[in-house]
Amino acid sequence: MLTKLTGGCLYDPANGVDGEVRDLYIRDGHILDGPPAESPDRTYDLTGKLVMAGAIDLHTHIGGGKVNIARAMLPELQGRDDATSRSGGRYSFGPATPSTLATGYRYAQMGYTSCFEPAVLPVNARQAHMEMADAPLLDTGGYAMLGNDDLLLQLMSEGVGQEVINDYVAWTLRATQCIGIKVVNPGGISAFKFNTRKLDVDERHPHYPLTPRDIVRTLSRAVAELGMPHPLHVHASNLGVPGNQTSTLATMEAAEGFPIHLTHIQFHSYGTEGERHFSSAAAEIAEAVNRQKNVTIDVGQIMFGQTVTISGDTMRQHANRRFAHPRKWTCMDIECEAGCGVVPFRYRDKNFVNALQWAIGLELFLMIDDPWRVFLTTDHPNGAPFTSYPHLIRLLTDKGFRNDQLACIHPDAAAMSRLAGLDREYSLYEIAIMTRAAPARILGLTDRGHLGPGALADITVYHERPDAEQTFGSPMLVFKGGQVVVEEGQVTRTLSGSTQVVRPDYDRRIEQRIGDWLDRYHSVRMGNFRISDEEMAEGIGSPVQVHPCRPRGSA
Ligand SMILES: [Zn+2]
Repeated sequence: MLTKLTGGCLYDPANGVDGEVRDLYIRDGHILDGPPAESPDRTYDLTGKLVMAGAIDLHTHIGGGKVNIARAMLPELQGRDDATSRSGGRYSFGPATPSTLATGYRYAQMGYTSCFEPAVLPVNARQAHMEMADAPLLDTGGYAMLGNDDLLLQLMSEGVGQEVINDYVAWTLRATQCIGIKVVNPGGISAFKFNTRKLDVDERHPHYPLTPRDIVRTLSRAVAELGMPHPLHVHASNLGVPGNQTSTLATMEAAEGFPIHLTHIQFHSYGTEGERHFSSAAAEIAEAVNRQKNVTIDVGQIMFGQTVTISGDTMRQHANRRFAHPRKWTCMDIECEAGCGVVPFRYRDKNFVNALQWAIGLELFLMIDDPWRVFLTTDHPNGAPFTSYPHLIRLLTDKGFRNDQLACIHPDAAAMSRLAGLDREYSLYEIAIMTRAAPARILGLTDRGHLGPGALADITVYHERPDAEQTFGSPMLVFKGGQVVVEEGQVTRTLSGSTQVVRPDYDRRIEQRIGDWLDRYHSVRMGNFRISDEEMAEGIGSPVQVHPCRPRGSA
């Protein structure tokens, strides 16, 4: 079957194509190199339409224990599963934690074809993959959480050396079938269990002779030395705390030049100025990101409305429990590997702090110069459900609309924000960088995020509508692996995705130490902890696709 897409206007930043009319040919799920000799079986006339690669979300909580706890705890938020709606000046983006089925559908209906769960607890990886496999139409992947697990902290405390740490990190990736390593509140979740309620970057852990800085340095170095494409993915210390900008800047430095990705940096860009002692530090953070080329970030934009915050950061979620809306929350732990806290929350535009958080996120988007190093996220569902992305794209591409919205928020927050003075409007090319080309590059996915020869035929076609929210909210066509799965915003076909992983080499002698540790302290044995390729393909239903690492030690 040969398919031709003709007359579309392509935005393909990975190949330097900025709004050029070109034809694409698809066969066997991939994009061909130039027109083949034979005539196509099917031709789509895309004259006047925008064509981009399928979008990639590199940070969205769609699988794993926390999401299910939120669903079970908040049945009232499941509600009607409708699309974005607006009434009385307020937006509703649908349920904060949609079912797996709705998650796959809603993403596909926005033109997304690959999504990555950023907080896979290693002992719970099986369930995370099962849940992601149950979301149709998406390829998925996960980042395994390390940095609060006692084995890593113990190994570091013993001074075993970087090579052994690297082996442990590589073994964890293999055992959990993940593509990246995440650290949440480095050392802080562990410290919480020793009754510590705050741990800054250079404070010593109450039990181990280590600081969060040590953990970030060691893990970012491990990821680099293992040749993993994706940098250490860091949820920094002191999330949500006024004045946390100093912790965020210290965390960037802790990587000592190794690649580091700071996630949902909006929640980590706060100062203490003004009479309420809460202010925007977006300018300072943006300046640091612009200067340090080893740093990438995603924003974690908030949107006004009801959502639920779900995080491995038990320390901060415990502190935030008093803001729960509706008034219920939970913090829990499995096998003491990390943590988990679920706190429902409603962001309000007339609340000073929430209004300023909204402005801070947009300031960061607009003040960080390089669109290849800033990623479009709401930290779904923590800042807002992912279904708010088309609205967010309009805020970034339409200054008039942004300023209209700014006029509606708490006036003191608006007055303290620099947003009104920021004239930048993202171009379609920059949106394509942020949502396609850059996430593919930073995850090491050479087979997607672009429209060049050999690429997976994950392709989204948009009508150019009067505003970007309409354009990006309802594509004309979405192709997944060369097959049409969405037409005019409606899902027309379902299919299952695959799981993206990387597999750096490691010295198998580490398995003895890990096996002994599991035997002594865990309820799960080594053989059950590890997820095999056969189980991924047959039991879980999402076969593994391995992406290359650089040769070990070549960093
Ligand atoms: Zn997150």
